[in-house]
Amino acid sequence: MPNHLFDALFAPLQGRDAALLRLEGGRSVSGDAFFRMIARQANALAALGVTKGQRVAVQVPKTPEALALYAASVALGAVFLPLNTAYTAAEVDYFLGDARPRVFVCDAARAVELAGVAARHGADLLTMDAAGGGTLADLAEGAAGRVNPADCGPDDLAALLYTSGTTGRSKGAMLSHRNLLSNAEVLVKAWRFTAEDVLLHALPIFHTHGLFVASNVALLSGASMIWLPGFDAGRVMAHLPQATVLMGVPTFYTRLLDEPALTREAVAHMRLFVSGSAPLLAETQLDWEARTGHRILERYGMTETNMNTSNPYDGERRAGTVGLPLDGVEVRIVLDGCEAAAGEVGMIEVRGPNVFQGYWQMPEKTAEELRADGWFITGDLGQRDPDGYVRIVGRAKDLVITGGYNVYPKEVELLLDAAAGVLESAVIGIPHKDFGEAVFAVIVPQKGMVLEADKVLAEIAPALARFKQPKAAVIVDALPRNTMGKVQKNLLRETYKGWFG
Ligand code: AMP
Repeated sequence: MPNHLFDALFAPLQGRDAALLRLEGGRSVSGDAFFRMIARQANALAALGVTKGQRVAVQVPKTPEALALYAASVALGAVFLPLNTAYTAAEVDYFLGDARPRVFVCDAARAVELAGVAARHGADLLTMDAAGGGTLADLAEGAAGRVNPADCGPDDLAALLYTSGTTGRSKGAMLSHRNLLSNAEVLVKAWRFTAEDVLLHALPIFHTHGLFVASNVALLSGASMIWLPGFDAGRVMAHLPQATVLMGVPTFYTRLLDEPALTREAVAHMRLFVSGSAPLLAETQLDWEARTGHRILERYGMTETNMNTSNPYDGERRAGTVGLPLDGVEVRIVLDGCEAAAGEVGMIEVRGPNVFQGYWQMPEKTAEELRADGWFITGDLGQRDPDGYVRIVGRAKDLVITGGYNVYPKEVELLLDAAAGVLESAVIGIPHKDFGEAVFAVIVPQKGMVLEADKVLAEIAPALARFKQPKAAVIVDALPRNTMGKVQKNLLRETYKGWFG
């Protein structure tokens, strides 16, 4: 049995002299050098006793060595488990206790803090610092630069990615070799990736977006990457002239729009801008097009499913939609047990080779969300345009039920966002003694604008049934967002829960 994922993404790098990763400061890592880095790490991990199926937990800064660690795990048939670098020791303790990894590679700067956590859960502790050095690099240095990838079937696990878990316990999504490879293959075609491409990579690699969507697609197509340790608008601007594709969360685009140097000339070398992980405001889409001449391509996916839908490369990239199902991916919108008609809001369900294998050691949770016939209940509410384009209405758990009526926050947010002087908004439900929940709006003004909450609410009122109209609103400078640009509605609900007494 071969290891198709390794063979497709990493094996072709052997002997390739061309740069794979271009780093800041002019340094680059050739395909061949990266391949040897992978092989050495794989051999070092194997010497420590890491074998097929064991978890390799990783919480390290973004470097070429950190990406190689993902590849080394795949080579061994091990299960790569990347963790958000922001997680505290207490959070890491939960993940290691749940996943029981064989090794835990942590940031060298936090080794003392995390040693006890690793020991408690029986994981060998290794370190990797922001320059790629540390105890793993030391072990790898003396190891062989060749590797025989472990045999792996399509259903063997390649990665365990924990969901961000804004409510309840974070769940480990089990992703197989087939899940990752099939999605990368589909995306390379859909977005026309070739070996000529240079992907500007500024996303974190502990999340599906930066790790799988961006890196796998570039690797599979033989493209190279400009490998930035994180997002910084100035640094991204500086590298745009050498790049052909940027993948980002919506915040990347709003921050770049604040850069006066963002012009058509600055992006003359670019062929594609992709956005996902959170909704792209229609206003951002329009501003971006006016400034650059490019229409951002928005797509939709999640940790459990990889990518599901995408706006087309050719054809209409429709603002406010996430486009059409990707090749081989089935998407349906379910309302009261039946498929919803165009325009009706229902639960988005997805089926295909991209859909995960279930939640790690949570058979009940898996059974609740993954149907026996393969359909995954995403938890996202959506609707379809008559010609099939999908619109995301929001997470089902964000639905507001007020006086027995359902209010979809997105409907109210779209009206608020279009009101005079409003940049963006978040609509939530907060406790109310008469209505159970009341609709509440959190509004961010455009730069330099001073807004009065009541005036904004009065402006949108004529367009909304009474029960959908926010009962109150506040004006704030910014919405709380996580690293992937998602608005943290749970924090807003917590902040304003006592508003109505
Ligand atoms: P994650 O598992 O962290 O990638 O989060 C997945 C969730 O992000 C999805 O279930 C959606 O709620 C949201 N999401 C991803 N892409 C989009 C998009 N283009 N528009 C709106 N929401 C999105």
